[in-house]
Amino acid sequence: ELHAVIVGAGMAGVQTALELRQQGWRSPVTILGAEPHAPYDRPPLSKAVLFGGAGADTLLDVRFDVDFAALGVELRLGVHAEALRAADHEIVTDAGPVGYDRLVIASGAYAMALPGTEGLPGVYPLRTLDDAAALRPVLEAQERIVVVGAGWIGAEFATAARQAGCEVTVVEAARRPLAEVLPEDVTRHMTGWYDEAGVELRAGTPVAAVEPGAVVLADGSRLPAGAVVVGIGARPATGWLGGSEVALDAQGAVRADDRLRTTAPDVYAVGDCASFPSARYGRRMLIHHWDNAVQGPRTAAANLLGGDVAYDPVPYFWSEQFGRFVQYAGQHEEGDTMVLRGDPSGPAWSVVWLRDGALRAVLAVGRPRDMAQARKLIAASAVLDPPAAADPAVPLKAA
Ligand code: FAD
Repeated sequence: ELHAVIVGAGMAGVQTALELRQQGWRSPVTILGAEPHAPYDRPPLSKAVLFGGAGADTLLDVRFDVDFAALGVELRLGVHAEALRAADHEIVTDAGPVGYDRLVIASGAYAMALPGTEGLPGVYPLRTLDDAAALRPVLEAQERIVVVGAGWIGAEFATAARQAGCEVTVVEAARRPLAEVLPEDVTRHMTGWYDEAGVELRAGTPVAAVEPGAVVLADGSRLPAGAVVVGIGARPATGWLGGSEVALDAQGAVRADDRLRTTAPDVYAVGDCASFPSARYGRRMLIHHWDNAVQGPRTAAANLLGGDVAYDPVPYFWSEQFGRFVQYAGQHEEGDTMVLRGDPSGPAWSVVWLRDGALRAVLAVGRPRDMAQARKLIAASAVLDPPAAADPAVPLKAA
C-alpha cells in the first residue's frame, strides 16, 4: 500500500489531503505539521480575528472545518521535518524518520524579521496563530503601535489596530505603499486611506534601529512605540530541504515544474513554498496568496495520481483594509494600458490593464462583480473595448 505524506498543515497541505481523497487516493495519507495547533486559515489573522479576548484558545474559529479522522488522514502535529533523504524516500523529523511513497511539500512561508530585531521584546511578526494571539493583548492595552511595512498585511493590521483604539504609525522604506505590486497611478489613491483612518504613514524612510520603546528612522526621527509589528514580507520555509535532491530557486522556493513535480522522484510541491513556470506569463511564479494554496493542490493531487495536468492559474487575491474590500487578479506589466473604472476618490472603483487590447489584470476596490467578470475574461484573454471598460455602469465584457 502506497503512503502519501504531506509536509505542512496549512491551507496547501490540508487542501492536498482533501484533493487526494476526493480524486480517489485510497491508501494512507499523513500530514506532518510543525505547529501544535489544529490546522487553521491564515487570512483572518490580520483582520477581525485580532479582536476579542487574549489567548490562542479564543482564536479557534480560524480552524479549518475538516474531519481528518473521517477522511482517514493521519494528522501529526508538532512534528518538524528537518531533512529529506529523497533517495531513501524518507523524511527526517524531530519525531524520528517518516517513510513515504509520494511526498507533497507544503511547508509554506515564514515572516521575514527586521534585521537586528530578532528576539527583541515588543517586536511582533504576524504569520501564525501564536503571533495573532500575542498581538491581541497589545491591541487590548491600546498600545501606541509602529507597523513596519505598508504592504497588504501592514495595512490590514493597521486597520485592526485603529479599530481597537491604538495610535498607529506605518513606516515604509519605499516612497509609497505597495510599491512593488502596483503603479503609483493606483497607489496614490490608496495613501489617503491611511489619513482617513487616522493612521500616520511615513513612506520613504527606512527603519534605522529599533530601541526599547521606540523606532528610529533613517532620517533621525524617533517614533515612540509600545509595540512594533513587522510586515515586510515572507520567504519560503524550505530550510529543511537544504542539501537534498529537491532543487530550490534563487528565492529559496522549491523549484517545481509545470506539473508541480520537484526535481526528486515522487515529490511534489504546492502553495507558498513553491515556484512554478507559467506558460501564461512566460516566467517562473512564486505566489504568496491563499487562492494559489487552494488551486495548486488540485493539480498536484491529479498528477500524483497518474494524471498529466499543467498548473497555470490566473493569480487572485484579496485584502480587507481601511473598510475596503480590495481584490486583484491576473498580472499587469509595465507598458500595459491602464483603464480606470469609476472615481478613485470614492468607495468603489476598479482598474483594468490591457495588452494589445486583451484583459491582463484587474484591481477592484469594493466592486466584486468586476472581479468575477474579469477573472473569466482574463483566463480567456478576452479583448475589451477601452471606452466601455472605462464606464463603471457597463459590465466588463468582451468587445
Ligand atoms: P502556510 O499557511 O505557511 O502553511 C505551511 C505550514 O507548514 C505551517 O503551518 C508551518 O508551520 C508548516 N511547516 C513549515 N515548515 C515545516 C516543516 N519543516 N515541518 C513541518 N511543518 C512545517 N492571502 C490572500 O489571498 N488574501 C488574504 O487576505 C491573506 N491574508 C493573509 C493574512 C496573514 C496574516 C497571512 C500570514 C497570510 C495571508 N494571506 C492572504 C496569504 C495566505 O494565507 C497564504 O498564501 C497561505 O496561508 C499559504 O498556505 P500554505 O499552506 O502554502 O503555507
